[in-house]
Amino acid sequence: MDKVILIKYGELSTKKGNRNFFINTLYKNISRKLVNYEVNIHKDRARMYIEFLDKDLDSIISIIDKVFGIHTYNIANIVESDDSKIQECLLEVISKEKFNTFKIDVKRSDKSFPIHSQDYNRVLASLLLKNINNISVDVHNPDLLIKVEIREGETFIYYKSYQGSGGYPVGTQPKGLLMLSGGIDSPVSGYLALKRGVVLDCVYFEAIPHTSIEARNKVISLCKKLVLYCDKINLHIVNFTPIQEEIYKNCREDYVITIMRRMMYRISERLSHKYNCHVIVNGESIGQVASQTLTSMEVINSVTNMPVIRPLACFDKLEIMDIARKIDTYDISIIPYEDCCTVFVPRHPVINPRIDRCICEEEKFDYNTLIEKAVEDVNTIVIDDSEDSEFSDIL
Ligand code: ATP
Ligand code: MG
Repeated sequence: MDKVILIKYGELSTKKGNRNFFINTLYKNISRKLVNYEVNIHKDRARMYIEFLDKDLDSIISIIDKVFGIHTYNIANIVESDDSKIQECLLEVISKEKFNTFKIDVKRSDKSFPIHSQDYNRVLASLLLKNINNISVDVHNPDLLIKVEIREGETFIYYKSYQGSGGYPVGTQPKGLLMLSGGIDSPVSGYLALKRGVVLDCVYFEAIPHTSIEARNKVISLCKKLVLYCDKINLHIVNFTPIQEEIYKNCREDYVITIMRRMMYRISERLSHKYNCHVIVNGESIGQVASQTLTSMEVINSVTNMPVIRPLACFDKLEIMDIARKIDTYDISIIPYEDCCTVFVPRHPVINPRIDRCICEEEKFDYNTLIEKAVEDVNTIVIDDSEDSEFSDIL
């Protein structure tokens, strides 16, 4: 192996006492994602090193780009720590690049290497100036900043830095329950929660026959996109039909969405307890629809004491759509299948609901028994990131 990916941790490096835990989690996540590749992975407190086979570079990079906790990375050439070998390698790799100005930055951690860093900077700079036409040294703002790290036995030469995915490694926080509909917002919300290190289970409320099996498959496809950023996702599918039908039969029309959402929160809380989730995560965004005004959020949220994380609370729809495109969920989300929230939309949903009215409407049917049954009968499918997963051919 003559190349190595050098990973710098970024935000992770602000964690003092927890630093090892964060690094070890990142190490585990990277190792697991690269299990099918011939790689050697090492770590220290500042960086991680992945040695790989040249042919795998592109696919490894596309995987690494989805592992949270990486600030930047470089692809370094490895050469023996020997003056003539270093010169030969440097000239070979740099000759292929197009640039006008450069700077050499030698770091010599192997003090047995006979030439001091400053002197070696000059040696290598003259080598390039002599062999490549029309280039000059610029120590302040070079086109190419060429790093030469002389370590015991081997030297790394690199000059390009790539942006990593940022955030914290998934698994540095415990589990949250993502309310995942087939829409644009909730997958983006899930992506942002994963980026903060939160492990996710998902819950999807379906109302068959009012919603179709295709709508469910859409949610499974969205999970397949999210799972690229983590290990696996348990998707809990709740049969919401009996509750939804009771709401429409018994409750005043302008309150049906508010009450439906209160029921979803109640069920999400129960499922969180059942599956050890510490927070509920959803795709609500302030003011987006009647059920997401601040008054609605207050009234809906009041059925649970659990923390509800809304990563998109202050995002514009266009910003959300940009992220959805970036994470490749947008095209799935816009496939037009009915969601249980869109099956029966009241003409004038209440914008400023009142808690006492909700309670009064909810007393008209025995929702506790229905909720218990919904939680008991939940259907869980496990979605992992393997190509041949049972659900990989949906959509
Ligand atoms: P999205 O918000 O995902 O684009 P949406 O806009 O159709 O879908 P809203 O009516 O805005 O959904 O609902 C707000 C949030 O409530 C969603 O982002 C999602 O977290 C949750 N939610 C709505 N419907 C469902 C459902 N059928 N199953 C699970 N969660 C849901
Ligand atoms: Mg929405």
